[in-house]
Amino acid sequence: MSNRRKPIVVMKFGGTSVGDVSRIKAVAELVSKYRQENPGVGVVVVLSAMAGETNKLVALAKSCVDKPVGREMDVLLASGEQVTVALLAMRLESMGIAAKSMLGPQARISTSGRHTNALIEEIDPESLHAILGQGGVPVVAGFQGVTEDGDITTLGRGGSDITAVALAASLTAQACFIYTDVRGVFSCDPRVCRSARLLERVSHEEMLEMASLGAKVLHTRSVYFALRYRLPLVVLSTFDGPFVPGVNGTWIVSEDELMEKPVVTGVTHRLDEARLMIQSMPSDISTMSRLFSLLGEKDVLVDMISQESVSSGAINVSLTVADEHSSIALEALREAIPDLKAGGVSIERNIAKVSIVGLGMRYHTDVAGRAFRALERESIDLLMVNTSEIKLSVLVERKHCEAAVRALNHEFASETKAAAAEEAAYAVG
Ligand code: ADP
Ligand code: ASP
Ligand code: MG
Repeated sequence: MSNRRKPIVVMKFGGTSVGDVSRIKAVAELVSKYRQENPGVGVVVVLSAMAGETNKLVALAKSCVDKPVGREMDVLLASGEQVTVALLAMRLESMGIAAKSMLGPQARISTSGRHTNALIEEIDPESLHAILGQGGVPVVAGFQGVTEDGDITTLGRGGSDITAVALAASLTAQACFIYTDVRGVFSCDPRVCRSARLLERVSHEEMLEMASLGAKVLHTRSVYFALRYRLPLVVLSTFDGPFVPGVNGTWIVSEDELMEKPVVTGVTHRLDEARLMIQSMPSDISTMSRLFSLLGEKDVLVDMISQESVSSGAINVSLTVADEHSSIALEALREAIPDLKAGGVSIERNIAKVSIVGLGMRYHTDVAGRAFRALERESIDLLMVNTSEIKLSVLVERKHCEAAVRALNHEFASETKAAAAEEAAYAVG
């Protein structure tokens, strides 16, 4: 084998793309066609489990015990991807392509021991290079890895994206293609808003924010890897033909490669947060720091925070936490109420966080005003607000979530071309 390795691409197919055998056959055709058209390129495939399978496995565990042990949960969850990689590899073999399914340990994906949410620590790509060197196609199970003790781990829901990008980085691949069930990254979830606009290019920074604020088309950590290793990342549909800019596919690129910097690139939403409200708490800094230290000790991640004065020396404090942390947080706060000398604590789960994200927000002043006016026109009240340099998030009642996404998309995303032209002029001038 020559030392000069051929260029490599990673192709990742999500759950819907491998949702049944006919789709797995279609994926095999797509991989075969890509290889025929790009004979000098090595292809590594990463797969998810069939759509719905991981949910079924979670439900199965919960029907067996109330609180499944993490180690066993991972053995169970990893089985979904084991099915699809075997099926695709056997299909490719039947087409005369030397393919080999690879589970996490076989692909030497080493992770931390944090079961069901493990972090990839290292990948040794030699086993994949060996298959590629012989002209074969490694078909790697996404979402899984192995600890140094040999225990199977999984990377958190949606984690196959992380496998794909991390593998692409370790293989110094030319690009990582994320094949999914929509034509790329849209200005908002195309299932919520029909006027969602397909984005041709999005910066890593914007995509990181969009993913962490709810655009589940890419896992946040996969974007982080792409940014860190400067890896070209393309999101495109498995079902809508090849990559054609503006028609099928979004490039995730570094900020300096972007000519356009729209005020708002995307609108996202999350439904998996809860709001805790601590009533009538003394308004001194030491009570406030005790409150947040307490949550920190319980490993509760706090997202939004606001306070309002209710009488002299007393405040109401509201904060949001991920749903999965909300019961622990509520219990801890209930216990601490006497010590904090607060009136009580309550929880609200019927909320949604809707956000706008865009690099252009750095240069424009009236973004919040425009966003609030757009929501006002729909009679949507704001429960909380949070901003950073390139994002603005509002908390609304859950029943208003979709209307809020549509209103903000309509306000900003439909005119991004015009705003972008203005922005480019600003940048040059
Ligand atoms: P896969 O199984 O291929 O990983 P996912 O279901 O994880 O697919 O992600 C694709 C889904 O992400 C789409 O079907 C779409 O509903 C959702 N989505 C949310 N926000 C966006 C967005 N801004 N652009 C594209 N898709 C989005
Ligand atoms: N099968 C896993 C899940 O459903 C991983 C993935 O699809 O990316 O979360
Ligand atoms: Mg996904």
